[in-house]
Amino acid sequence: MPEGDTVWNTARVLHRALADARLTGSDFRVPQLATTDLTGWTVRESASRGKHLLLRLAAPDAAHWTLHSHLRMDGAWRAYAPGERWNGRPAHLIRVVLRSPGAVAVGYHLHELALVPTAEEDGLVGHLGPDLLGPDWDAAEAVRRLGADPERTIGEALLDQRALAGVGNLYKCEVLFLRGVSPWTPVGAVSDLTGLVTLAQRLLAANRGRWTQSSTGSLHRGQTSYVYGRRAQPCRRCGTAIRKQELGERVTYWCPVCQPERPDAPPAG
Ligand SMILES: [Zn+2]
Repeated sequence: MPEGDTVWNTARVLHRALADARLTGSDFRVPQLATTDLTGWTVRESASRGKHLLLRLAAPDAAHWTLHSHLRMDGAWRAYAPGERWNGRPAHLIRVVLRSPGAVAVGYHLHELALVPTAEEDGLVGHLGPDLLGPDWDAAEAVRRLGADPERTIGEALLDQRALAGVGNLYKCEVLFLRGVSPWTPVGAVSDLTGLVTLAQRLLAANRGRWTQSSTGSLHRGQTSYVYGRRAQPCRRCGTAIRKQELGERVTYWCPVCQPERPDAPPAG
């Protein structure tokens, strides 16, 4: 599942493959960019902001542009050597191909693909809260933004990219387990929001540079999470069956014993 760390890794792959390269061809397979041709453009750098990817380019007239993409649940970028077989995903999922002398970057099932002046990046990512993996990560600001709506459940608030950018459903579930907080707890009733966001930042940072997302420290299949994806399996701490239920627009996983609910929270089955 693409969360902040996956997007960070993807940005690094693209940076290594394309930074400083002059593109020898491009092929956009989305209507809004169907006539765009980036041949002769130079890739300056690739960066991530929360779950957004920003490929910064210089046009032949030296103007700075940004190719924006979002992976959502299912998008991916792959870099291939010239002539290498593209084995990442089925071809009908390809949304863009960028060719350079040293590498070919292929974007699969990308969302929100757009080419905008770099000076206007804020229009795409300016609404985001502090980026957990950004150079300007600011835990206090993230806590302030989370606290702006104290009635909302912490399970929903952690996924709000306007509060903090980079947490997806997996890290949400795992962080709440590790802190012993029920996902249904109102934000205003969470005793240590700073500890929560600091742990989220540490978990994402620990998974930079690898594609396996682990919150347990184990990279073995089936052992990488405490609660996420483990419905009805025994809690690794107390043995109670892990539960799964809708929360807002997403499902959540939790241990009812390690993450006790407040008396005023709705009953969870
Ligand atoms: Zn438990």
